[in-house]
Amino acid sequence: MTGEHESDRCYFCGGRLAPGVATLPFVLDARVVIIKDVPANVCVQCGEAILDSETARIIDRWLKQVEHLGFDVSVITYAHVSGEAIAVG
Ligand SMILES: [Zn+2]
Repeated sequence: MTGEHESDRCYFCGGRLAPGVATLPFVLDARVVIIKDVPANVCVQCGEAILDSETARIIDRWLKQVEHLGFDVSVITYAHVSGEAIAVG
């Protein structure tokens, strides 16, 4: 199970991917963070959004930073996430 996960096909239905943006929920224990305007490859067939590895890493890093904060549900834009992840990182 090594190698690239990135491809031009949807993992789920095999549909074609097109560049776009997505609104994605991320669950941290009992909390939910919704990130809007995330750059992603979006499946034209089922609408699944697939992040490239750099975008996923930025979000993952940011989520680790906010894990300990006391919110239940938060909605944020990707521009904010990427800005903070780089600044604090
Ligand atoms: Zn699909």
